[in-house]
Amino acid sequence: MTSLLVGYAMKPLLVFENRYKDHKGGPHHPENPARLDACLAGLSRDNLIKEFDRIEPRRAGKDEIMLVHTPEHHSTVAATAGQEDSMLDEDTYVCAESFDTALFAVGGLLEIVDLCEPGKEERAFAFPRPPGHHATPASAMGFCLFNNIAIAARYAQKERGFERALIVDFDAHHGNGTQDIFYDDGTVGFFSTHQHPLYPGTGARGERGSGKGEGWNMNIPMIPHSSDVDYKRAYEDELAEFWEFVKPEIVLVSAGFDAHERDPLSQMKVTTAGYRWMAEFILARAAGMPCVFVLEGGYDPDALADCSNAVAKAIAQYR
Ligand SMILES: [Zn+2]
Repeated sequence: MTSLLVGYAMKPLLVFENRYKDHKGGPHHPENPARLDACLAGLSRDNLIKEFDRIEPRRAGKDEIMLVHTPEHHSTVAATAGQEDSMLDEDTYVCAESFDTALFAVGGLLEIVDLCEPGKEERAFAFPRPPGHHATPASAMGFCLFNNIAIAARYAQKERGFERALIVDFDAHHGNGTQDIFYDDGTVGFFSTHQHPLYPGTGARGERGSGKGEGWNMNIPMIPHSSDVDYKRAYEDELAEFWEFVKPEIVLVSAGFDAHERDPLSQMKVTTAGYRWMAEFILARAAGMPCVFVLEGGYDPDALADCSNAVAKAIAQYR
């Protein structure tokens, strides 16, 4: 025994900041600060928030953003700081505070990863805004400025000694940015279930990675109205096998709640119980290693509250 804390059950980590509401583009945009109020309402039910240790985010540095992004992309977003509201593409707004908020969104995940090490179980739930999984190496896209989860995966490898990472993406939309970043990599596996056809249009089964990354990218496009049973089949039949192929040492989850049956931006039919089932499936396989859930999409306030509550319960092993 080398530590007084051996055998002591540590609480899972939580990153949740009011600062993440500073990125705003008007109340009628579906990706708005009120989403976080909904998540907090879900986390506050059942006193669940007390089951977590809240940690403070920091401002990510340019070198950290450039773990997955081009310097030009960093400069494009940085140039919006302090400026009037504008659009980086037809969906993706920025306001004067968006750049700084995005740096803290990334920095929240980096603070979690700083507490992770290979072979040590860790659980965390982070609620960054803006979201990240559509951001490509060179561009903002689909409400996303920087690819939070991809930066966290690279940072885990570079700074914390992890060799292989797995990113599981259950957002209703394909995580095209994450796929692009790791497509020819061969150390980070990407598994995505998503509605097809739907924005952004990528995510065909045949997109399996290239070069050293051949086989490391796995897409499960699903028809509109797919439900819990379809997701269960995808996880039991395909994620389980892909997991064995990747053999991850750390698992990061792009937790988008817009496949929920109440969500206005997809036609999927996942229930709150279905989301909890997926979270528990992932957590069970991630025994003995870090597993970090990261908010992506989700645009119905009640569904966001319910799913935040359900996944937090899975993470905290709440019965
Ligand atoms: Zn989405």
